Amino acid sequence: MSTKEFTYLPEKWDWDSIIEHVIVHYRWIFVMLLLPVSCIYDLWFYTRNKVVFALSSAPSKHREKVAFVQSQVRDYQTKGEGKGMCTARPGWQTISPQNMSYKQRMYPIQVNLVDVLEIDAERKTVRVEPLVSMGQLTHTLDRLGWTIPIVPELDDLTVGGLVMGTGIETSSHKFGLFQHICLSYELVLADGSVVECTAESDPDLFYSVPWSYGTLGFLVSVTIKIIPSKRFVKLQYYPVRSMESMVETFERETEKSDASDFVECLVFSKSNAVVMTGDLVDSCQPGKLNEIGRWFKPWFFKHVESFLETGSAVEYIPLRDYYHRHSRSIFWEIQDIIPFGNNVVFRYMFGWLIPPKVSLLKLTQGKTLKRLYETQHMIQDMLVPIEDLSKSLKMFDDEVAIYPIWLCPFKMEPNPGMLNIKTDKDKM
Ligand SMILES: Cc1cc2nc3c(=O)[nH]c(=O)nc-3n(C[C@H](O)[C@H](O)[C@H](O)COP(=O)(O)OP(=O)(O)OC[C@H]3O[C@@H](n4cnc5c(N)ncnc54)[C@H](O)[C@@H]3O)c2cc1C
Repeated sequence: MSTKEFTYLPEKWDWDSIIEHVIVHYRWIFVMLLLPVSCIYDLWFYTRNKVVFALSSAPSKHREKVAFVQSQVRDYQTKGEGKGMCTARPGWQTISPQNMSYKQRMYPIQVNLVDVLEIDAERKTVRVEPLVSMGQLTHTLDRLGWTIPIVPELDDLTVGGLVMGTGIETSSHKFGLFQHICLSYELVLADGSVVECTAESDPDLFYSVPWSYGTLGFLVSVTIKIIPSKRFVKLQYYPVRSMESMVETFERETEKSDASDFVECLVFSKSNAVVMTGDLVDSCQPGKLNEIGRWFKPWFFKHVESFLETGSAVEYIPLRDYYHRHSRSIFWEIQDIIPFGNNVVFRYMFGWLIPPKVSLLKLTQGKTLKRLYETQHMIQDMLVPIEDLSKSLKMFDDEVAIYPIWLCPFKMEPNPGMLNIKTDKDKM
């Protein structure tokens, strides 16, 4: 994902066009103003969540909040005027760059459910509300010695979005997609009733919820598997210098019987990439600790790129730093927004304010930048069979040639409701 060169030159210069010009060409000025707001918001939300979790007040409030969703859905029966219903969360608050204009034509339902409800150490589950974010969940679980098997890494991705859309991470070659670690969904249906479904109690509904984008009901809680966490990830970097060795190394590391806990690859050009494998460990070799989440550290993708110069290496990374390694630079989105953000002086002075909240960035985009994102910018997930990886990368290079690309392996679970991708072999 990245942006091609773009210049905004208005036909006439008035106040509106001057502001648009500044937003497009000097976006960092706006972003510098957004940084303290983002930081205060995160601090407030972190403190609020800690207090709510410590007081254990969320489970009793949950019933009230679900009842409110139900009452809005029942009101819709008389006041809906034939429109469809959708969550009232405005498009700018989501991580997706998509312009969610359909929301303006629909009947909005407030689904403001933001809390971790319960951790059951015996059953090894955590029950959460749909707006719980990945950052919030790892903060809560990590200090109790637990984690979820798949942590999609941007801090602000929500459980609801990852279930109703989809979620993937570098452990997906072992655990599948985000929905495959979910054990039950609680939904408010279109008639206002509440159902809780599991694979056993209602397989039709349970397997249809993922990727349904809210069309089957409003998600109000999810029960997710948890596993014991460890303190560090031992991360190995393997720089490769041709597409053949990139694909060969990535496939080998993904498919071997004792594959690492995490496998990924950052592709920097047609023939330069760094394959990474990570293992959960409890101790760290002296001198090899790298706390990549600290504010003054280089952006992770830049750090990874440096191994193309220096060769293979091993590092030990604290677990939360690993999970959210792409958060500070929003993968590589930030380099278009604050081009000098990886400069060492900037990092030491302002790095602790980074990243700006994606929601605030979207809110202050302006119409030209929105058009730029829609026409010149690419953030695209593509699920391809691993045997077609080489062909897919070549086609992507011929047609698009935007780098870096993030390769993340995932396992296709042979269960109902899972998409079925046909490979060239299947078609023969
Ligand atoms: C820069 C960037 C990096 C990304 N990185 C990753 C990554 O590392 N791993 C990964 O898996 N994905 C990643 N994604 C994609 C991301 O998973 C999807 O965009 C995800 O769906 C967005 O999550 P969200 O929490 O903002 O959900 P939203 O966009 O708010 O929701 C997604 C859909 O679910 C529906 N929905 C949400 N909550 C409810 C509810 N309670 N009831 C009914 N319907 C609901 C919404 O209406 C919408 O249709 C990335 C996206 C971007 C832009």
